[in-house]
Amino acid sequence: MKLLLDSTRCQGYGLCQEPAPDLIDLDEWGYAQPRVAEVPADGEDIAAAAVAACPNSALRLGK
Ligand code: SF4
Repeated sequence: MKLLLDSTRCQGYGLCQEPAPDLIDLDEWGYAQPRVAEVPADGEDIAAAAVAACPNSALRLGK
């Protein structure tokens, strides 16, 4: 499973990083930068929390 970012939707709120600091970095302006190409199997709940935390629907889980 991949954590996919639509950078055209990311507005730099940074809320996604709070539940998933091992999966998402923020750049100097607060925009999300996924840290891993593949979400580890034991990280899928955390990745789902990051997706749910984004108020702009910029993140999704996909293949
Ligand atoms: S919460 Fe959404 S809009 Fe904010 S940084 Fe994360 S992906 Fe971007």
